[in-house]
Amino acid sequence: MRISGMFMPTQREVPADAEIVSHQLMLRAGLMRKVASGIYSFLPMGHRAFRKVENIVREEMDRAGAQELIMPAVLPAEVYMASGRWEKFGPDMFRLTDRGGRDFCLGPTHEEPFTETVRDYVRSYRQLPITLYQIQHKYRDEQRPRFGVMRAREFVMKDAYSFDADEQGLDRSYQAMYQAYCRIFDRCGLDYILVHADSGAMGGSGSQEFMVKSDVGEDAIAYCTACSFAANREKAPCPAPGPIEKESMKDVEKVHTPNFKTIEELMDFLGLPPTEFAKTLLYNIDGKIVAAMVRGDREVNEIKLKNLFDATELAMAGPADVERVTGAAVGFAGPIGIQESVPVIADLEIEGMLNFVVGANETDFHLKNVNFGRDFTPTRTTDIRNAVEGDPCPDCGAPLSMCRGIEVGHIFKLGTKYSEALGCNFLDSNGTEHPMIMGCYGIGIGRTLAAVIEQHYDKDGIIWPIAVAPYTAIVVPTNSTDETINALALDIHEKLQAKGIEVLLDDRDERPGVKFKDADLIGIPIRITVGRKAAEGKVEFKLRGGEEVLEMTPEDAITETMKRIDNA
Ligand code: ATP
Ligand code: MG
Repeated sequence: MRISGMFMPTQREVPADAEIVSHQLMLRAGLMRKVASGIYSFLPMGHRAFRKVENIVREEMDRAGAQELIMPAVLPAEVYMASGRWEKFGPDMFRLTDRGGRDFCLGPTHEEPFTETVRDYVRSYRQLPITLYQIQHKYRDEQRPRFGVMRAREFVMKDAYSFDADEQGLDRSYQAMYQAYCRIFDRCGLDYILVHADSGAMGGSGSQEFMVKSDVGEDAIAYCTACSFAANREKAPCPAPGPIEKESMKDVEKVHTPNFKTIEELMDFLGLPPTEFAKTLLYNIDGKIVAAMVRGDREVNEIKLKNLFDATELAMAGPADVERVTGAAVGFAGPIGIQESVPVIADLEIEGMLNFVVGANETDFHLKNVNFGRDFTPTRTTDIRNAVEGDPCPDCGAPLSMCRGIEVGHIFKLGTKYSEALGCNFLDSNGTEHPMIMGCYGIGIGRTLAAVIEQHYDKDGIIWPIAVAPYTAIVVPTNSTDETINALALDIHEKLQAKGIEVLLDDRDERPGVKFKDADLIGIPIRITVGRKAAEGKVEFKLRGGEEVLEMTPEDAITETMKRIDNA
C-alpha cells in the first residue's frame, strides 16, 4: 500500500482531552476519531489493528469449539424484563421507543437473548453442551466515559455463553474459555494477571478477570509473585495478627487533644506513630449507623463492610449522626461506650494492637493505652480493611505486591440465574426437566487494543507487536527524486506484497525525518530504509522496538522480515 494515497490523518500535537497514552496515541496516529463522548470511529489504520485483535479472538473461540452468530443490537424491552434487568440497568441502558410506542434498548450485554435463543431450540441433554458467541457492538451509557475506547459508550465486545447439563459440564466449558482467553491475550502480546473477581452482583459461583498490568488501570490488584494468587484489592483477604502480651497493658489515660486536623498531626503530638492509633469511622449502611475500626494507617474496605451486612447502600455517616452517637464533635469517635447504640465492627488487626489511642467520644479528647477485650469488646471482629503491599499472601504467605490493572476480559460461571428466569430448560435421560447451567465470557475488543498500546509504546509512538500491527513492514525510500532508490524500494514493496506481507511504501515527497517520525508514530514493527547505498545493493533493516540498524541486501531484508513474522 502506498502511503501517498492513504487516508491516514496523523497529528503532531497531543490532543488536549486525552489523558492516557493509548488514547493520545490512537488519536495522534490517526487510528480513530471522536464522534461524541465515548463514541468513536475507527479510521483505516485503526480498523486494521482492530480487526487483527478481533480475528485472534475469533480464531481462538472457534478453536475452543464455540460457534459464532450475530444478534441484533436493537432489542425489545421484553427480552430484559423477565430477568429484571430492564429496571436494574437503570440509566446505563440506552433506551428507545419505536413509532408505535414500543420500548426497545440497545443491548448492553446479551445473556437474555442468548438464553431465549437456546431455550427455543434446545430440548434434550443430548444437544448439550453448547457455546455460542458473537463479536458485536454493545451500548452502555457509562457514567464516566473516558480514556477513548477503554471506557466507551459504544464498544465492540466478544460475548460468549455456554449451556451445560451439569456442573462438571460447566467446569469444562469454563476451562475451555479460560484456555482460549490465555491464548488470545498471549497472542496480543499482553502481560496480564488473572484475578478472582467479586462476583457478588451477578449472583454466580465463580468468576475471573483478565487484568492487563498498567498504571492507568482502574482496578487495584493485590498479587503474589511467589504463587499465582491475585485478587481485586477489595477482595484480597487480610490476615489476623499474632497474639499480644497481656502483661504489657498499661492504664488508660485521657489526653487533651484539640485542633488536630489529621491522624498524623495528632500522633505526632502524642509522640506515637499512626500504627498505634485505632480509628473509628461511622457509616450509614442501608440507613443504619455502624462504627468500623481499623488501624490508623489503614483504609476501611467498604465492599467487605457492605458484604458483612448484605447491604446495598453504604456511605459515611453525616455529622449529625456522628454527634448523636458519640456525643462529641466529628473527629473524636472511639469504641468505648458506643456499643449500646451502634454495632462496632473491628478489623482483625485491632485485636493484635497493644496500648493504642482511640477517640474519647468527647470533644477535644482521646484515650491512650486502650486495649481490645479489656476496655471494649466489639460487636464483631473480622476482616474489613484493604490489603496493602507487603501483606502476607493468603495462599503462600509471601509478601503481596500491588499493581493497577485494565480489565480486558471476564469469564464467569453464571449458574442457573438466567435459565431459571427465562425458562431455558432441558430434559435429562430420565425425561426430567432442569434449568441449563450457564457461563458467560466477555472480551472488549477496543479496550484490548488500547491495552496493547498501553504496554507497547515509547516517546515516539506505538510499538505494535506483529500479531496486532495494522501493517507488518514499511519500506522507506529516503529520496523521492532518485530513480535507483525509488525503483529498489518499489521492488522490495512488491516482493513483500507477493509474499502476502502487509506492507506500506512511503512514496511521499517528504524528508526522511518526516517519514521516520510517521513510521514510528504509527508503530510499524519492521522498517526497511532504501537510501544512498541503493546503488551498491544495500538497504537498512530496523525493528520499531529496537535501536539497531542493520545493513543488508534487499533479499536478506525480505528473508529477515519473513523470519520475524514466523517467530512472532
Ligand atoms: P468494567 O468493570 O470495566 O465496567 P464490566 O464488568 O462492566 O467492566 P463486562 O460486563 O464483564 O464488563 O464486559 C466484558 C468486557 O467488555 C470487559 O472485560 C471489557 O473488556 C469490556 N467492556 C466493558 N465495558 C466497556 C466499556 N465501557 N468500554 C469498552 N469496553 C468495555
Ligand atoms: Mg461496567
